[in-house]
Amino acid sequence: PEPQFEADPTKKTLVVLGTGWGSVALLKKLDTENYNVVVVSPRNYFLFTPLLPSCTTGTIEHRSIMEPVRTILRHKKAAVKFYEAEASSIDPERKVIKIVDSSEVKGATSETEIPYDMLVIGVGAENATFGIPGVRENSCFLKEIGDAQQIRKKIMDCVETAAFKGQTVEEVDRLMHMVVVGGGPTGVEFAGELQDFFEEDIKKLVPEISPRFKVTLIEALPNVLPSFSKQLIDYTENTLREEKIDIKTKTMVKRVTETTVEAEVSRPDGGKERMTIPYGLLVWATGNAVRPIIKDLILRIPAQKDSRRGLAVNEYLVVQGTRDIWAIGDCAVAGYAPTAQVASQEGNFLARLFNNMAKTETHEARIQELSSKLNLQSGNSAEAAQEIESLERQLRRIKDIKPFRYSHQGSLAYIGSEKAVADVSWWNGNLATGGSMTYFFWRSAYLSMCFSTRNRVLVILDWLKSKAFGRDVSRE
Ligand code: FAD
Ligand code: NAD
Repeated sequence: PEPQFEADPTKKTLVVLGTGWGSVALLKKLDTENYNVVVVSPRNYFLFTPLLPSCTTGTIEHRSIMEPVRTILRHKKAAVKFYEAEASSIDPERKVIKIVDSSEVKGATSETEIPYDMLVIGVGAENATFGIPGVRENSCFLKEIGDAQQIRKKIMDCVETAAFKGQTVEEVDRLMHMVVVGGGPTGVEFAGELQDFFEEDIKKLVPEISPRFKVTLIEALPNVLPSFSKQLIDYTENTLREEKIDIKTKTMVKRVTETTVEAEVSRPDGGKERMTIPYGLLVWATGNAVRPIIKDLILRIPAQKDSRRGLAVNEYLVVQGTRDIWAIGDCAVAGYAPTAQVASQEGNFLARLFNNMAKTETHEARIQELSSKLNLQSGNSAEAAQEIESLERQLRRIKDIKPFRYSHQGSLAYIGSEKAVADVSWWNGNLATGGSMTYFFWRSAYLSMCFSTRNRVLVILDWLKSKAFGRDVSRE
């Protein structure tokens, strides 16, 4: 029988916010018998984000990279309570969080409070728009499953509308122009997937308008993929150009309308030029911004007054200025890049820390019990003294937890036409490679990282399916 959740008054209540990379890594390794564990997230599944760009074109079906949180929690030794809700505020004084059911179906109760003894915040980040006018209203983003579905639908809507009888040439050009803003890994991977979709499927299925299809990638900095090595940046830019993706670097988008992007280009002579680019689909991928719940918490904690990019944490991931709140992943500032790799290592670290903290408490309680027995001279005192000594030895080892240190395994990105780039740690040095072999490495690495065997099998089947039959272009 499955374990039933009943809050045990002798145990501390550990509330975990989010079901992303950080929180799920924590839940996977946490010994749930030690705490009353409560998970709150508006998303009742874990999302394997590295393969999200492939869902925008149907290379992979979205459910293949989702893992229901209830399936994950079912395998834990002690039951864990899950609430599909958004935490709307955190009160560190009263040690309670407020939660709201933000889903479509609401019951008579859709807002309540949860008290905590320990709180882990893993709510991730939201999309940065830098307040640029028109972005929120007119762009698609690429962070959640719904975003990928919306993009997939919109690509085909643009294609079918461009193929409409009597469409003017100018309008066909606009509709078939797919603009991606942000040359970070999200923007580059999406542009690559889009070009593949066009080359492998749209060209065959809608040949009459295919010469007008164009992908433009706009980046404010002088290069795309700024976090990769120079050699891989050059390789990526050359490959994207070969794929006929138009890369516009040193170009900063300043305004977006329903049909155009207005950008400022820095000329080599240092001057600036304004350009207007008509588009059919606009995907905005300019990185992360802080979520409102985190902004609100920052204002409540005086020690966080200088925090701008997220919650400042110490080397044990404790939120600075608090005692029992930890933050992991994209909402925490620990000195590392906002990546899945960092978030999951942080989650693993907290699981070890919490497992050890629970052991410490049990050992300390036992030592106290034995010591009072010794003081009362009851029972076998030599045996008790020996047990105390052994427990103290174990305690010293448990308490000696080293602070969190991130170990970088490398960076990988797909760049289209079955090529990928990889900056990986190799022995004691770094290896920078790009090309078709790297693509196979990329595929195997991501497959091995998938959450479950079920996900792995589904992803392989999707790859085979789209290769054999082409991508499904029905507009749902
Ligand atoms: P997330 O994984 O974003 O999870 C946040 C969770 O919190 C979600 O479950 C969300 O629903 C929940 N939540 C939100 N608000 C609330 C609230 N108010 N209350 C409770 N819960 C809330 N990184 C890599 O290392 N390698 C890659 O290849 C890679 N590819 C990527 C591709 C794409 C398209 C994207 C968008 C990102 C990619 N990343 C990659 C980055 C990586 O996904 C993030 O760094 C990672 O998801 C951060 O993990 P997290 O746990 O902090 O947040
Ligand atoms: P990012 O922050 O890495 O890149 C955003 C880019 O947008 C920047 O290069 C920035 O200069 C540009 N930009 C910002 N404003 C602009 C404007 N107005 N006009 C034009 N360009 C503008 O964002 P991301 O690609 O979404 O990645 C977010 C995080 O997730 C990063 O840490 C990244 O490493 C990680 N990630 C990793 C992978 C991977 O490893 N394959 C894939 C996706 C995301």
